[in-house]
Amino acid sequence: MSENVIRNVIIIGSGPAGYTAAVYAARANLHPLVFEGSVTAGGALMNTTDVENFPGFRDGIMGPALMDEMRAQAERFGAELVSDDVVEVELTGDVKTVRTATETHQAHAVILATGSGYRELGLPREKELSGRGVSWCATCDGFFFRDQHIAVVGGGDSAVEEATFLTRFGSKVSLIVRRDELRASKIMQERAFADPKLEILWNSEIAEIHGPDRLESLTLRDTRTGELRPLDATGLFVAIGHDPRSELLTGQVDLDDNGYVLAQHPNTGTNQPGVFACGDLVDHQYRQAITAAGTGCAAALDAERYLSELE
Ligand code: FAD
Repeated sequence: MSENVIRNVIIIGSGPAGYTAAVYAARANLHPLVFEGSVTAGGALMNTTDVENFPGFRDGIMGPALMDEMRAQAERFGAELVSDDVVEVELTGDVKTVRTATETHQAHAVILATGSGYRELGLPREKELSGRGVSWCATCDGFFFRDQHIAVVGGGDSAVEEATFLTRFGSKVSLIVRRDELRASKIMQERAFADPKLEILWNSEIAEIHGPDRLESLTLRDTRTGELRPLDATGLFVAIGHDPRSELLTGQVDLDDNGYVLAQHPNTGTNQPGVFACGDLVDHQYRQAITAAGTGCAAALDAERYLSELE
């Protein structure tokens, strides 16, 4: 089905960035149409439990509850929410086209907020124990693991940085590295080697994740001999990278070498007039709900200004 109207603004994505953009655009009377995605509406926080660092909730809030609030707030001001995936976009002309599998919509401005996905190990129990001992974000969750034995898996800069950061909380941190060397920068390595609370388990990978309701322990495999051994960690941080959800956007807006949308900091414009980008789709540095929400707000304000200049 195709609409004959050209809307003011279409928002693609339903995490903190997309919903915040929707609140602002709706309150500016732009009647935004928001594509939330069919499976993961609500974004990354739908996969976690307590969120203790989003301002305004002194006792913390569960990730899905926070996203329900943001969604309801956007709806209250008139955002039109659609639980469907955008499968194609044409962003180069004055009028932008956005397609789902069954519908075509057009708008003068588009806000891209599709986020990024953390890479997973692909092991049984990994997803089920997300927010229950298994985490992808030390800044978000390190505080929950005070005085526990924490494992971190990965060998790059972010894994070493997360492991070093987590020594502030854990009784001990074990960095699990597949090879006999780290890919991290020399300075990060030196910091890690000098840290008395951090041990590096070379030539190791995770074979199994154990725990019915919470992570209770891991089984490691020696990558050279295949030998298995237990590790009594009750926290696991997976730090093997993340990928922006920008497949749709190839050839439509400028991306960096890793696929993140290049925005014209400090505003959220892309190289295409009328196309704005926010949240983790742009940001590979901070990757927090509050920073995603902040740039979602900025994207809506930038879109509003762009639209008013068209009039
Ligand atoms: P996302 O939250 O990733 O949302 C993007 C969403 O857009 C997708 O999920 C999907 O619903 C939708 N979408 C994608 N593609 C399409 C498409 N083609 N069509 C339609 N819709 C689409 N941050 C904190 O500040 N505190 C925490 O405690 C915290 N805990 C975390 C725990 C976990 C397990 C994870 C994975 C992340 C956590 N983070 C936390 C990080 C935080 O969740 C992210 O920084 C934030 O969600 C990014 O928001 P976003 O709106 O950019 O993208």
